Amino acid sequence: APVLLWFRRDLRLTDQDAVAAAAESGAPVIPVFILDDSDRKPQRAIGGAARWWLHHSLESLAGSLDKLGSPLILRRGDAVETILALVQETGAEAIHTGFMPDPGDRATDKAIAEALERQDCRLHRHRTALLHDPHKIKTQTGNPFRVFTPFSKAFEAQVHVRPPAPAPKHLIPSTQTKSDKLADWELLPTIPWDKGMAEEWTPGEAGAGVRLADFVADAVNDYEKGRDIPGDAGTSRLSPHLHWGEISPWQVWEVVGEAKGHGGVATYRRELIWREFAAHLLWHFPQITDQPLRPEFAEFPWREDHAGETAWQRGQTGIPIVDAGMRELWALGWMHNRVRMIVASLLVKHLLIPWKDGENWFWDTLVDADLAANCVNWQWVAGCGADAAPFFRIFNPVLQGKKFDPSGRYVRDWVPELAKLPDAYIHEPWTAPEAVLRAAGVRLGVTYPMPVVDLAAGRARALAALKQATGRG
Ligand code: FAD
Repeated sequence: APVLLWFRRDLRLTDQDAVAAAAESGAPVIPVFILDDSDRKPQRAIGGAARWWLHHSLESLAGSLDKLGSPLILRRGDAVETILALVQETGAEAIHTGFMPDPGDRATDKAIAEALERQDCRLHRHRTALLHDPHKIKTQTGNPFRVFTPFSKAFEAQVHVRPPAPAPKHLIPSTQTKSDKLADWELLPTIPWDKGMAEEWTPGEAGAGVRLADFVADAVNDYEKGRDIPGDAGTSRLSPHLHWGEISPWQVWEVVGEAKGHGGVATYRRELIWREFAAHLLWHFPQITDQPLRPEFAEFPWREDHAGETAWQRGQTGIPIVDAGMRELWALGWMHNRVRMIVASLLVKHLLIPWKDGENWFWDTLVDADLAANCVNWQWVAGCGADAAPFFRIFNPVLQGKKFDPSGRYVRDWVPELAKLPDAYIHEPWTAPEAVLRAAGVRLGVTYPMPVVDLAAGRARALAALKQATGRG
């Protein structure tokens, strides 16, 4: 009997334990991907940018599987029903798949395992997406960690480095199984909004390998400093590849470690551990997808501000570093981490708009949209998460801009209507004398908006809201 090789967010062949187990089973292999795009809780349908990525990533994976002799079978529908139907249809004796920390996937796996109890087929989950199982790291008292630094120490003590395993040379093909056509899934946008994404990214395993090699050759040595400068290509941009599992986190951990700049290596690996920490929190506190982890934030006096939120989404807030980030996001489906923190802070603090609204927008527009990382980081910025920046610490976007984009290069790239402003005013055009604005061709309120919020007043309002909700501030 054949085995099902069920791909999820682990769309690669190299160093992929479900792939290796299916190959080693000696049975014919039926590789399958299921698109379950219903929004039935706890399942969450992927967003628009992620759909674009997935289309191209599946195309790439299907090409690689064709070369191994086992074509990828595509099915759409409820994951539980679809897997059980496939087991019936093919007589599969086992399912090899990746272990995922998201509540929707966990519910799916539980339902499948229960249904299979009465059948001669077993569900085998392999660790394909993470360096470590999120539930295996515990405090000395056996509880989940809530703070990053001790988690990271425990993680480094427990995690065993293993050399990445090669892709199998071939898979034993199975008899024909019906597959959907990828094009019929209509994952690509109907409006041509993906041009920037297509120029920036090469979804798939090969593209991920090139990104990693480029990062190790060019940037990892300077990562410690370079990672905070959004105008430089100082970070790895591996996030969508890691999210979709097109590269094994082991491989990234190992290959980066071979680079010379040790400071950069340790800092970079810390970021990979943040990724693990987010999965750990989501595993133990699945409510964080909707609810603040700190209960005192449940009654927070958020505002409804449609105009402010729309200005934020469109990169028209009148605050250059924020607009640059939001436009980068729209164009590339990605935003630099430093700027993600700045734009998120403006939304939840100066504008007092719920973090969940921002999280939803990121979910729809990021190619790396990841349930764990997105919710954990939004709650971190909003001050309502486990190990969070305190709410009263409010980023001033002008000072952030001056510090991390001192020459204004990043702003000029993404907000070209300000390109001719001198450095002194690029992060706060509203303070520029009229003659300077005129010389730079800027007419505030006409060619570029006035700020949607007065930063000092917004800060005071945020602190008052904090005091009202928690008695602190
Ligand atoms: P690098 O600096 O090269 O880091 C290497 C890898 O480490 C990243 O690819 C990523 O997998 C991981 N990583 C880095 N920082 C973090 C972090 N803070 N939390 C978790 N993992 C991290 N990251 C996502 O992958 N998906 C998201 O949906 C997401 N949403 C975010 C929302 C907000 C409000 C903020 C502030 C951050 C968010 N991040 C998210 C984290 C971070 O911004 C991105 O992982 C990073 O910018 C990706 O770029 P890179 O690959 O060049 O990162």
